[in-house]
Amino acid sequence: MRRKRRPRVKNLKPVDVEAWLAQHPDALIECPHQPGHLKLTPQACAKRYLTANEPRWANIGAEPFPVFVFKMNLIPCRKCKVGARMAQQHDVKAA
Ligand code: SF4
Repeated sequence: MRRKRRPRVKNLKPVDVEAWLAQHPDALIECPHQPGHLKLTPQACAKRYLTANEPRWANIGAEPFPVFVFKMNLIPCRKCKVGARMAQQHDVKAA
């Protein structure tokens, strides 16, 4: 039997995402390399770029599957010019 899903926050008003994005056109960028037209903040993009270029994530081997998936997901970010530009513009640290 499936339990009824309860909202975590009560009285939460629904947000019209498209309207919000129209009002804040620079809040999110669309990643040209990740699948599914991923939209993320410039800071998140910079963080992904810096994390992807950390030496500890350089080798992909026989890790536990979640770590393997995480590393594979960062591969497009390693030499990404968009990520390099975002990393220069925003003061963030690698994850
Ligand atoms: S660094 Fe490049 S590939 Fe990675 S999320 Fe940013 S734009 Fe996409």
